[in-house]
Amino acid sequence: MANKTLFERIIAREIPASILYEDTRCIAFGDINPQAPFHALVVPVKPIPKLSESTAADAELLGHLLQVAARIAAEAGYAGAFRLAINNGAEAGQTVFHLHVHVLAGRPFLWPPG
Ligand code: AMP
Repeated sequence: MANKTLFERIIAREIPASILYEDTRCIAFGDINPQAPFHALVVPVKPIPKLSESTAADAELLGHLLQVAARIAAEAGYAGAFRLAINNGAEAGQTVFHLHVHVLAGRPFLWPPG
């Protein structure tokens, strides 16, 4: 399908990725341009373009994404400290319009974020 998102193409194995976790609702894989020693993305199979377009029907799925994020951080050895980020909209830095949770770990993180 020509209008698949980049992440749908990863889910369909049309584009290679370093897959860390997958179930029927989401996939997690390494970010191609890591911003920390550990940088993964947790992506719902459902191609919600961005968080602000999710609905109440997605509430359980959104919770699942957070739980998977914590799980993959822990499995990588970073249960104690990790940073999650969701960029919502181009001005917030979103470049791929298929909802995803960034999971970053392995270095100190500043607050507020840049
Ligand atoms: P965002 O800017 O929040 O939309 O994040 C998109 C993320 O996708 C960026 O961190 C990119 O490095 C990452 N990315 C883009 N293409 C790929 C790919 N083929 N495999 C893994 N990560 C990717």
